[in-house]
Amino acid sequence: MIRRRTKIVCTVGPASNDWDTMRAMQEAGMDAVRINMSHATQEDASRCVDIVNRLNHELRYPIPIMLDTNGPEIRTGMLSEPLLLKQGQLVVVSGSEKPEGLENLPVIQVGYPRFEGTVRVGDTIRFDNGLINLRVKDKTDQGLMCRVLDGGKLGSRKHVNLPGVFVELPAISAKDEEDVKFAKEHDVSFIAQSFVRSPSDIQAMRSLLGESHQWVKVIAKIENQEGVREVESIASASDALMVARGDLGIETDISALPRLQRNLVQTTLKLGRRCLIATHLLESMVENPIPTRAETIDVANAVYEGVDAVILSAETSVGQRPAVAVQQLRRIIEESEQAPGLDFSQALVTNDVKQNVAWSAVELAERINASGIMVVTRSGYMADLVTNCAPLQVPILAFSNSMKTRTRLMVNRGVYTHSIPFDSDPEKTIQTALQVLAEREKVQPSDRFVLVSDVLSHSGVESIQIRQI
Ligand code: PGA
Ligand code: MN
Repeated sequence: MIRRRTKIVCTVGPASNDWDTMRAMQEAGMDAVRINMSHATQEDASRCVDIVNRLNHELRYPIPIMLDTNGPEIRTGMLSEPLLLKQGQLVVVSGSEKPEGLENLPVIQVGYPRFEGTVRVGDTIRFDNGLINLRVKDKTDQGLMCRVLDGGKLGSRKHVNLPGVFVELPAISAKDEEDVKFAKEHDVSFIAQSFVRSPSDIQAMRSLLGESHQWVKVIAKIENQEGVREVESIASASDALMVARGDLGIETDISALPRLQRNLVQTTLKLGRRCLIATHLLESMVENPIPTRAETIDVANAVYEGVDAVILSAETSVGQRPAVAVQQLRRIIEESEQAPGLDFSQALVTNDVKQNVAWSAVELAERINASGIMVVTRSGYMADLVTNCAPLQVPILAFSNSMKTRTRLMVNRGVYTHSIPFDSDPEKTIQTALQVLAEREKVQPSDRFVLVSDVLSHSGVESIQIRQI
């Protein structure tokens, strides 16, 4: 029963927000859907949620939804026509709503009122995903005078990145609050929080989610230098980390990106949190039917690092062939999982008793060459602990009486879930789980399963058992 372990998350957008495409993506290997609120409206999101709900009626493994917030982002103002910037020329950049202008220099307005106060002489300002770059030369009453390092055509409402600058915008914007409200109304399983800079940002998100939605998993997107510096405390406060390579590659020196990814993954897995890799995995497939050689190796690298999931962005949201991109990704993952990985889970911090129980179960399963590790779990916690140990050849089969628990586990590496009712007699619960396995999976009478749970006894004592059908 060897299966793909690394999960596939697909961003849904104009190219895929319809039944046929989403169905095709699911058949190609999509495990979870991401809605990026930096681009999608709530109307788009509603449509996507409806399609996923309908799909889930037909599927064995439910597809969870991840709502990705906009976060504290800065964009340029409106321009009547694109501004052509030439290398070496001077421009003025200002955060005031109606900049006065200086001499005859062109003016770029940015949506950040404290701009002049927080950006220093010598800093770099990056526009349009780092394609247009300016260096701050001087502070004037009219704004910051800058020299163009890399020119280009600057349009309206383009992204602005300020590497190394602490941007004094609230971690959760008014728009984010509205979007989280939407997420709660639709019982979305994951919130991906953009530009997380400290553990308190995660706490703020959890309190916004409120008592009723503490079950929602919060994914911290690491996208700038502060996020990288605070990774340990941020990972500890969150349920998962996303290596958001799009912004991270602009906010930091791009040549450090491979090293940063490795450090972030290693830290996250060591702390027993889920880890996801996002952006540009198969970027050339936005246009092309096949990926580049380098892209296939980038995907394989994420698999070797042992991440839980990889995320497609433009490939599936605006690309030419969303389902083909998913299929290619799945095939690269399946091939790559046959090669040995880096096994970062060996460094897992196991000072918790339950984590040690999970570790023993995984070790036992691998030693006896079990066909699966069965986890009977109410909240999903025990299944998370087993995931942390990253079993190599043995799939994790989670059984829960809660659909919310099942969807939340769908991006866990190597975890597949089933619904079962729980009985007050633990043995009956186990028999039900075994019966589900026998009916749905290709199980032989000789197959052995390691079973781990803390809901099997009335007293909440953890147990590990070896069972056969
Ligand atoms: P985004 O986040 O797609 O919302 O920008 C991911 C990234 O920056 O890589
Ligand atoms: Mn980003």
